[in-house]
Amino acid sequence: MSATIIDGKAFAADIRSRVAEQVAALKTDHGITPGLAVVLVGSDAASEVYVRSKGRMTVEVGMESFEHRLPEETSEADLLALIAQLNADPAVHGILVQLPLPGHMNSDAVINAIDPTKDVDGFHISNVGLLGTGQKAMVPCTPLGCLMMLREHLGDMSGKEAIVIGRSNIVGKPMAHLLLGESCTVSIAHSRTKDIADVVRRADIVVAAVGRPKMIKGDWIKPGATVIDVGINRVEAEGGKTRLVGDVDFDAAREVAGAITPVPGGVGPMTIACLLANTLTAACRANGLPEPEGLTV
Ligand code: NDP
Repeated sequence: MSATIIDGKAFAADIRSRVAEQVAALKTDHGITPGLAVVLVGSDAASEVYVRSKGRMTVEVGMESFEHRLPEETSEADLLALIAQLNADPAVHGILVQLPLPGHMNSDAVINAIDPTKDVDGFHISNVGLLGTGQKAMVPCTPLGCLMMLREHLGDMSGKEAIVIGRSNIVGKPMAHLLLGESCTVSIAHSRTKDIADVVRRADIVVAAVGRPKMIKGDWIKPGATVIDVGINRVEAEGGKTRLVGDVDFDAAREVAGAITPVPGGVGPMTIACLLANTLTAACRANGLPEPEGLTV
């Protein structure tokens, strides 16, 4: 039996249109336009692409986009001064500093200088602590997108066995906290885990965030499990071209799983949609308004 393919592209488009509707209502009813500031230091090619598409989609949903491009040699003090200015600007509800930062900067110090209520990436230590203690936080966009897809597909996840493969601060750890919040029994695997296949075989929910092409094999997957593939890996394809694949061996896993996300077209599009949702949430919270329904945890 072939798995249901969870269409992240369509789901992300639906989230963006729900965000757009609520942005329009905020403007009409309260005269508020949510604003997202994106700061890019240097000229990393992949970051340029992300920043451009973030800016375009921000405008498409009716929000204000503020882009700040700083040269590679910008000092950390100058970047911190810009962040202080954005923290104080009432037109800016969300601030995102595109990572990675140049090597001479301390990324933790920079991220922790952002006002946590404007930290739409959810990386500030306060938001990490709030999420870890089950309180209202800004939730990192990629895990939030994964959770939304899981909720949509599975509904109640209480009591299910879940495994998160990868323990990064950006994906693995927050994902594990979110699944705990859904009352799953959560395991976290990483490079030192012994016999990952064995742990994966017990799981009803598998979230793979490793960065190793097709590492998770089809015969590791429990029949009927839901598989969320966060990995984005560029591999060589025929004719000297390249293509993107996930961390899961999709063709084999889809024969066993109950549902699975493809790469591309799964988690990827959800990340920017959730960034927009977080910016809307931040604008509502900043103005003491109810949070947008179905767009937060
Ligand atoms: P990191 O490199 O920060 O973390 C990778 C994790 O995988 C680490 O915890 C590492 O373990 C673990 N790992 C590495 N090798 C193995 C192995 N052989 N067996 C088990 N675990 C292993 O990556 P990120 O979390 O930032 O990203 C993971 C993937 O997700 C990447 O492909 C990235 O491109 C993608 N990604 C996709 C996004 C999207 O929008 N769809 C957004 C963010 C990331 P250890 O800690 O022991 O080293």
